[in-house]
Amino acid sequence: MKFENDKIAALGSLISEGPRKIVLVAHTNPDGDAIGASLAWREVLVSKGHEVTMIVPNKYPYFLDWMPGIDEITIFRFDAKRATSAIRAADLIFCLDFNALSRLEALSEALAENDTAQRVLIDHHLSPEKGFDLEFSCPTASSTCFLLYCLIEQLCGTEAITRRMAESLYVGMMTDTGNFSFSFLTPELYRAVAVLAEKGIDIPQIHNNVYNGYTEDRARLFGYTIHRKMNVIQEGTVAYMSLTEAEMRRYRFQQGDSEGFVNYPLTIKKMKMSAMFLGHHKFIRVSLRSRGDVDVNLFARRYFNGGGHKNAAGGKSYVSMAETIAHYIRSVEEFAREGGLGE
Ligand code: 5GP
Ligand code: MN
Repeated sequence: MKFENDKIAALGSLISEGPRKIVLVAHTNPDGDAIGASLAWREVLVSKGHEVTMIVPNKYPYFLDWMPGIDEITIFRFDAKRATSAIRAADLIFCLDFNALSRLEALSEALAENDTAQRVLIDHHLSPEKGFDLEFSCPTASSTCFLLYCLIEQLCGTEAITRRMAESLYVGMMTDTGNFSFSFLTPELYRAVAVLAEKGIDIPQIHNNVYNGYTEDRARLFGYTIHRKMNVIQEGTVAYMSLTEAEMRRYRFQQGDSEGFVNYPLTIKKMKMSAMFLGHHKFIRVSLRSRGDVDVNLFARRYFNGGGHKNAAGGKSYVSMAETIAHYIRSVEEFAREGGLGE
C-alpha cells in the first residue's frame, strides 16, 4: 500500500518539528489492533523526541496485558483527569483504528475541548468522518497495524521498526484478520509479516499470549453462550446470541471475555451472518459478522446506528434485550427480502 507522496511529506513535517505534545486515541473496547497501533506508533514518535500520551476510552482485554508498554496507556474511564489534561495540552492528536469520533463515547467530549490541535486519522474502517487535517484511511487494509506498517515503511524505512514495535504490529495484524483467516490477506501483508519475523518476534509465543490467556470462567461462559443462547433463523443461515449483564456477572465477566464468540456460529457450514447482543448498563452492544458478500457494515448502519467493515461491524441498541432481538429478527427478514443475504 502506497500513500501519496505529499501526504507522507505532510505527516513527516508534522512529526519532524518538535518536540511536540502528542496524544494518541483509539476506539472504545480497544482490541489488539487499536492497542498494537497505539504502542507501535508511540514508539516511533518517542524516538523522534516527542512527548506522547496514549489514551483509550475504557479498559483493553486482559489477554493483552503482556504487551510491552501497555501499562503506560491512560484509560479515560479510570483516569479522566490525566487524559483530559493531556488532551488540553496536545498540539497534535492521532486517531487510530476508528472512523468517527462517536466511537470514543465519553472521551469524544474531552477531545472536543481541544479544537486547536491538528488531527490525523490512521484507520481502515469504511466511510471515515470528515474534518481531519490529514487522513490515512484505507478500508482494504486488513488492520490499522498493517496500514501503519506501510506508513512507517514509507516514512522512515523498515529499519526504524524495533522488535518491540514488531510485536505490537504483529498483534494487530493477527487479531484483526482472525489469525490470518479473513479478507484482504494480500501478498503485501505476508511480506510485512516476514519483515516483522526478521525482527526476531516470537510468533508462537504471541499467539499463545493472545489466544490461550483466558480464564476458566470465560471458557464456561463460551460453552453456555453457544449451548444455551445461540438461536438460528432463516433456515439455518442467520444466528444470534445474547448475554445479559446478570448472565455475565454469573461468569465473573471481564472486558474481552466475549471476544470471538460472535464468530463461532460462522463455523457452521450454511451460516451467512451472526450477531451477538451484550447487555451494558446504558445500552446493548451489537456485534455482527458475516461471510462473503453479506454486508454487515450496511446492516449495522441501517438497523443499529453503527458501522465497521463489510464482514465485521457493530452498533448499539437503546431498547430492552427482548426488543433488540425482535428488531434484529425483523431487520434480518427485511434485509433478506431485499437480497442482502444472497440466494
Ligand atoms: P466488534 O464486534 O469487534 O466490537 O466490532 C466489529 C467492528 O465494528 C469493528 O471494526 C468496530 O470498529 C466496528 N464497530 C463496533 N461497534 C460500532 C459502533 O457502535 N459504531 C460503528 N460505527 N462501528 C462499530
Ligand atoms: Mn482494526
